[in-house]
Amino acid sequence: ALKCGIVGLPNVGKSTLFNALTSAKALAANYPFATKEPNIGVITVPDTRLDKLAELVNPQKVQPTTVDIVDIAGLIKGASKGEGLGNQFLGNIRETDAIIHVVRCFDDDNVVHVDGSVDPVRDKMIIDTELIFKDIETIEKRVEKLRRTAKSGNKEHVKIVEIYDGLLAHLNQEKPARSFDIGDEKAILDDLYLLTAKPVLYVCNVDEDGFPDGNKHTKAFRESVAAEKAEVLLVSAQIEAEIAELDTAEERQEFLEDMGLPEPGVNRVIRASYNLLKLLTYFTAGEKEVRAWTITEGTKAPGAAGVIHTDFEHGFIRAEVIHYDNFVEFGSESGARDNGKLSVEGKEYVVEDGDVMHFRFNV
Ligand code: GDP
Repeated sequence: ALKCGIVGLPNVGKSTLFNALTSAKALAANYPFATKEPNIGVITVPDTRLDKLAELVNPQKVQPTTVDIVDIAGLIKGASKGEGLGNQFLGNIRETDAIIHVVRCFDDDNVVHVDGSVDPVRDKMIIDTELIFKDIETIEKRVEKLRRTAKSGNKEHVKIVEIYDGLLAHLNQEKPARSFDIGDEKAILDDLYLLTAKPVLYVCNVDEDGFPDGNKHTKAFRESVAAEKAEVLLVSAQIEAEIAELDTAEERQEFLEDMGLPEPGVNRVIRASYNLLKLLTYFTAGEKEVRAWTITEGTKAPGAAGVIHTDFEHGFIRAEVIHYDNFVEFGSESGARDNGKLSVEGKEYVVEDGDVMHFRFNV
C-alpha cells in the first residue's frame, strides 16, 4: 500500500492529527518524544462516488480504498547527526512515498515549543535542513566509489557523477531535491531514494482563532513556501481530534454544522495526500461488494486487475468498463450496457479515474 509519513518538530500536533486521521489512539502528550515508535495507521479514503454506487447496487458490503499513514516523531535540530533519535526517524521517512509536513501555527503557553517560540517558517527550515543534510550524506556515500570508476574510464559513471555533483550543489544551497531540474534522468534520481525528492504537502496546525481563515503564522508560512507550488492546508488538529472522538455520524455532522464546516479537515488532508501520490480510484460494483481500488496514474487494465489479485493480472483476458458518470446516469451495469456505455477493453487500456471495471480472466 502507498504510504504517507507525517513529519514536523515535536509538539506541533503530529500525533493529534495522526489520531484524527486514523481514529487510532496513539499517545498525544505535552512533551517531546511522546511517540517513540513510528505509528502506522490505515486511513480510508472518503469518496462520495463510492457511496452513490453502493446506493444504486445495494451490495452486502461497501469497501473504501485506503492509504497507510506513518507518524514519524522525534525529528529535531541535529537529527541527521544522530541527535534525539534522529537517524532512526530519518530511516522511517525513506520508506514513505510522500510527506505530510505539519507546522505549528497555534499559540498556547501550555504547550512547550522545543525551540522556545512559535515560528512555522523557522521550524520548517529546521526539518528541511536535516533532510537535506541526510540527502547530501546519501549522495556523498554513493558518489565516492563512482568517482573512482569514472576516472578509470566508465562513461556511464562519468555521466552519473556529473548529475550527482549538480544535485549536491543544489542541496548545498539548502534547496530540496524535488526542485532540482533532472531533465530526462529521473531514473538516476529515483535510484537515490532521497528524502527531499518525495512529494510534500504542508499542514498548518491552527486552533480556533486561526480557523478557518488563518492567522499571522499561517500567513507568514504561506508566503515562505509560495515558490514551491506545494499545497498548504489549514487544519486544526485539536478540532479534528474532537470530531474523531464523537461516536456517531450524526453527532459528527452536527458538530461540523455548528462549526460551519462542510466536512472534516482530515478529509481534505486525505484527498490532498491522494492527489500528491498521483493516485486514481477505480471501482468494482457487484452484488456482494462495491469497492474502491487504488492505482497510480497510467496503470493499464491488467495492472489494475492485479491490485485485486495477481491471478486476475496473469489470466487477464479483457475488461468491461463503464465510466462512473454513465453508471450513475443509467442506474446500473445493464442500464449502461443497453445504452451503449459499456466498452470492452484489452491489455493496453489505460484505466481512468472513476472507471467501474469488470474483469474477465482465465484461472
Ligand atoms: P507531536 O509531538 O507533534 O506529535 O504533537 P502532539 O500531537 O503530541 O501535540 C502536542 C501537544 O499540543 C498536545 O498536548 C496537544 O494536545 C497540543 N495540541 C495539538 N494541536 C493543538 C492545537 O491546535 N491547539 C492547542 N492549543 N494545542 C494543540
